[in-house]
Formats: sequence, structure tokens, C-alpha cells
Amino acid sequence: MQDFIERGKSVYMETYAQFPVVLTRGSGRYVFDIDGKKYLDMVAGIAVNIFGYGDAELSAALQEVIANGMMHCSNLYWNRVGIEAADRLVRLSKMDRVFFCNSGTEANEAAIKLVKKYGSSKSEGRTDIITMQQSFHGRTYGALTATGQTKYQEAFKPLLPGFAYAPFNDFAALEAMVTDTTCAIFIEPVQGEGGVIPADPVFLQNVRKLCDKKDILLVFDEVQCGMGRTGYTFAWQAAQIVPDVMTLAKGLGAGVPIGAVVAKGAAAQVFRPGDHGATFGGNLLSTTAANCVLKRLEESSLLNHVKDVSDYLWAALQNLKQQFSIIEEIRGTGLMVGVQLSMPVRPILDACMDAGLILASAGSHTLRFVPPLTITHEEIDEAITLLTNVLKKSGS
Ligand code: PLP
Repeated sequence: MQDFIERGKSVYMETYAQFPVVLTRGSGRYVFDIDGKKYLDMVAGIAVNIFGYGDAELSAALQEVIANGMMHCSNLYWNRVGIEAADRLVRLSKMDRVFFCNSGTEANEAAIKLVKKYGSSKSEGRTDIITMQQSFHGRTYGALTATGQTKYQEAFKPLLPGFAYAPFNDFAALEAMVTDTTCAIFIEPVQGEGGVIPADPVFLQNVRKLCDKKDILLVFDEVQCGMGRTGYTFAWQAAQIVPDVMTLAKGLGAGVPIGAVVAKGAAAQVFRPGDHGATFGGNLLSTTAANCVLKRLEESSLLNHVKDVSDYLWAALQNLKQQFSIIEEIRGTGLMVGVQLSMPVRPILDACMDAGLILASAGSHTLRFVPPLTITHEEIDEAITLLTNVLKKSGS
């Protein structure tokens, strides 16, 4: 394994601080490294592999696309699979139209163009965007500028003009920042990279009313919290409001790269031919995966399962908090959980990896659980036992 890691270090640009492990295959909620060691995966490729590994239905559907000989079909033409996926997204969200791309940052990039064009059409110069402090929207320039965390931005200035960052969950402060040039407000209904922090439903409802009053577009970034993770298909459904625009990626393809922008009402009519595009967007391979995911979300059993196992995981973590004083807070919602520690999490993550448990961080002091949605009670028990042993050994 070490040989591969050394080769990787010499040929990859140093954009990631990888764990010293080479993963090769997966089965259920387990992954295996190149030496055959087994790990219980509570991260799912950062909220991507929502069915876990080796899902029979997804594998069969993808194999059928490959057997049919066409994985990609240009957007110069229609393809049936893409239309079906868009139709399902529209039905599940009760929104109107979809644009497919390939990732979360690309979806946010498209949303930024959409809201700026909408604002300009209302009055000249109405192109300013408010996002939230501690938010994360991606790494390309628009999405990076939208991201309300300077640590991602510092080395890449100058950023785009026209962005301001409001304190999350503080409606009065956000309202005070709105001006005549504001065209949109971007919010993650559950902040992910910023530390797993849910938006207060009343905050979201007030923002919705403000946007309606001022004709500002409300954009929800559901890239991490969407696709069933919170026990709702989309996290915003818990607040009983609907955004004008939502961005999706990660779990939408259950492992196949795909992103989407979904829009409602006037926002769905903004783009005209030539305004935006993505060569690979909506191709047969990625939208086949999206159809599998969306079909499964149309049935209530997956969401019921998420509610059941997330209750179980939360109870187990609360119990753990009673036992270990370094656990300061458990927060998040559904199967998107942050465990705030009083110490940096990296040594804990490394020790978990050694013990055969994959966890992630969200910031320096928060352990992040974003497991496959198909996780079981027994697997949660196993994860808690492994984590308990690690915390005991770390002298916490
Ligand atoms: N938006 C949110 C909320 C995210 O969590 C992420 C990635 O973590 C992104 C956007 C960027 O997605 P991608 O890495 O697919 O570009």
C-alpha cells in the first residue's frame, strides 16, 4: 500500500491531505483497502454514496446504459433518461425546471449566473448576492466567492465583486444587509463544511417572506444536505417553504458525478439558449444514476428508514456524550451529524481509521457523520463501539 501512496504523492497535485490508505472496493456500508482491511464507512464519500456500495439496482441500471453503447449524448439532442430524471426532480420538489451539470460547485456557478441575470432584468446593477458566514458553496470562482469562509479564499484574491456575508440564523442582521442592488440570498439549509449547523426553520421562513417582499431570489444549496439525508427529500421541506432555486449534487448520483439546478416560477424562465451549458450535463450515465436515486426517494420507505436510523444514531451519540467530557455538543439533523469536541479531531480520525472506522471532520474540532442512508442499527452499534474504544484510548 505504501508504494501506491508514494506514487500518488509524486504524481498528484497536493490539494488533499489524504489518509494513508488506498481503497479499492466496497460492499454494503463497508469499504476495503488494497491489503484487504475492512472499514465501516460513516462518511459515504462525503455524503455521496447514499446507497452504500454495490447497490444491485444502481449497478444493473448503469450496466444497462453501458451495454446500450451510449453513455454520453450531447445537449444538442434530447435524451429520454435525462428528461425522466428532470421530470422526477420537478415532481419531488414541486418546482418547475432543471439544468443538469456535473458537480456542486458547477450547480452553484449556474445559480449565480441565473440570479444575476434575473436581477439585471429587473433593474440595472441589481446583481449583488448575500450568502451566509461559515457557508461552503464550492471551489470555482463564483462559488468560492459565495463561500463565507476566508480560509478557502485568502490565496485566490481578487474574488468576484458583489458578495456580502450575513451571520447565519440572524434574520435582523441579514435584513439590514439587503439593499436595492441585492438580487439573491444563498443559504445551506444545513451548513456542512462550516461545522454541521442547521438553519432555524423560523429564520428560513422569515427569509422567504423578505425575499417575496423585495423580489429577491432565495437559493438553497442542498448539495450536502439534500437527497434524503435529513429524513426529507430536500432539507428545506422541514421548514415548509419553497426556494426559488435549489442546487444539488453529491447524493443525486449515488457515486456517479452529477449536479443540478432546480428553479421555480420566474427563476425557471431566466436562461435562454446560449446563456449556459455543460458538455457532460444530463448525460445518460449520470441521469440513470439520478433516476435510481429519485425513484427510491419517491417511495416512502427510504425516508422512513433514514428517520428510524437517525433517531438511533442520535440516541447513541447522546449516550456517548454522557460518557466523554471532550464531547461538547451533538448537532445537525437526520444522518448529517456533527460531534463537537474540545480537542482537534484529526488524531481521533486517524485512530478511528486504524481501528477500521471511517469518520470525517467539519472544521478542526467537529467529527462529521454522513453515512450511507442505508446504514443499519447493527452498523451504528459497531461504529459507536469502535469510536468508544478510540475515545477511551485517547484518554478522554
Ligand atoms: N455546496 C455544498 C453545501 C457542499 O457541501 C459542497 C461540497 O462539499 C459543494 C457545494 C461543492 O460541491 P462539489 O465538491 O461537488 O463541487
